Amino acid sequence: LKPSSVDIVGAGLGGLVAALALQRAGWQVRVHEQAPTLGEAGAGISLSSGAGLGLASLGLGRAVLAASLPAPAVAFVHYRTGALLAGSLDGGAPEDRGFHTARHIHRADLHAILLAAVRANDEQCVQPGRRLVALGKSGAEILLHFADGTTTRSRLVIGADGTRSVVRRMLFDAADPRFAGQLAFRCLLPAQRAEPFLAGGNALVTVGPARIFHRYRIRGGELVNVVAIARSERWEGEGWSRRAGVDELAQAYGDFGADVRGLIRVCPPETLIKWGLFVRDPLPRWHSGPVVLLGDAAHPILPFLGLGAALAIEDAIVLARALERGASLISALEAYRTARIDRVEDVRIRSIAQGEIVQAADPDGAGLGASPSQDPRLFDYDPCTVPIHA
Ligand SMILES: Cc1cc2nc3c(=O)[nH]c(=O)nc-3n(C[C@H](O)[C@H](O)[C@H](O)COP(=O)(O)OP(=O)(O)OC[C@H]3O[C@@H](n4cnc5c(N)ncnc54)[C@H](O)[C@@H]3O)c2cc1C
Repeated sequence: LKPSSVDIVGAGLGGLVAALALQRAGWQVRVHEQAPTLGEAGAGISLSSGAGLGLASLGLGRAVLAASLPAPAVAFVHYRTGALLAGSLDGGAPEDRGFHTARHIHRADLHAILLAAVRANDEQCVQPGRRLVALGKSGAEILLHFADGTTTRSRLVIGADGTRSVVRRMLFDAADPRFAGQLAFRCLLPAQRAEPFLAGGNALVTVGPARIFHRYRIRGGELVNVVAIARSERWEGEGWSRRAGVDELAQAYGDFGADVRGLIRVCPPETLIKWGLFVRDPLPRWHSGPVVLLGDAAHPILPFLGLGAALAIEDAIVLARALERGASLISALEAYRTARIDRVEDVRIRSIAQGEIVQAADPDGAGLGASPSQDPRLFDYDPCTVPIHA
């Protein structure tokens, strides 16, 4: 397909990777982001090997390697006894094998790398303060209506606007996302404060009845990222994330061992955020005419395998490749979904299974050794080489 112009809704990780991949293929890209200022909330993410290779293919290898740490072997330990349930305890910093292993990175650092690369190609590409409120049609063109009263005409629209996607609601699925019965607490601790409670190594998942407490180092080891996911009957509130009190987290994990309780005690309250986790049913199609979805907008997943951002990155790279190869726009958009659907469904289903195993009522009998997280093939998927039949 001959490159022309494209409008991307959402400057999250998926939207920015799509922007960069398409700029490099010669497209004129505009990204519309609702937030008044650009950036990402502070939290760590794991980056699968394949997602890392995808970023490297866009010229970001060196920057991403410098900003991330190789993910150590993960150990799953019992919440009261500390006994090893699965995986292996790391014996210090692992050998750095680049993108041959998964890595840990601060979301804000990855976002900043992507934003700088996109802006180096086109300073005006990403426009903040542009909240999409509706989509319309005028002949072959799509009309994007923004909250500021402006309208943009487009021939190709990529909806990368996350789990609460307006693009999805307008064209694909009017249903609201469903609460998944899970709360996720996230916080960032300075490593100095956390040090006395890190006896189990650099990356540890503590497994208790219906709850996990996962922690690992980021930013050269200076920060410890905590993701604690607990089953819950309810989510109260309008949005899907809000500030939480340290007391609330301490109460939810009060029966965990001394290290987990210690980490919670030294958690800086201003970094603690609570998320309700939401899911949606899979969509039978990802494009409607020249409007296509990617990342969480197309297929939100539960975070138990830490692969949501990786899926958004993979989508963006495969979509750009399909557009390059496609005989027509529509055949390219179809080829994109065909190339991706098995992978996305596999990760979605196995993320649910992983949650059921790690949050079992009895951690001893949960069968963690055979859980999906122990399958390396899940983390090696390479978006640069997967076949595309466009
Ligand atoms: C607790 C938790 C832990 C996680 N841990 C990991 C992990 O370790 N590894 C991993 O790979 N993934 C992880 N994930 C998942 C990951 O965060 C998401 O899957 C990923 O961010 C999806 O990227 P995206 O670009 O599709 O959407 P988002 O990151 O949600 O970006 C969407 C963008 O669109 C913008 N937007 C929304 N609506 C509009 C609108 N109407 N107009 C304009 N702009 C709009 C938003 O402001 C945002 O900038 C985790 C998720 C959770 C909840």
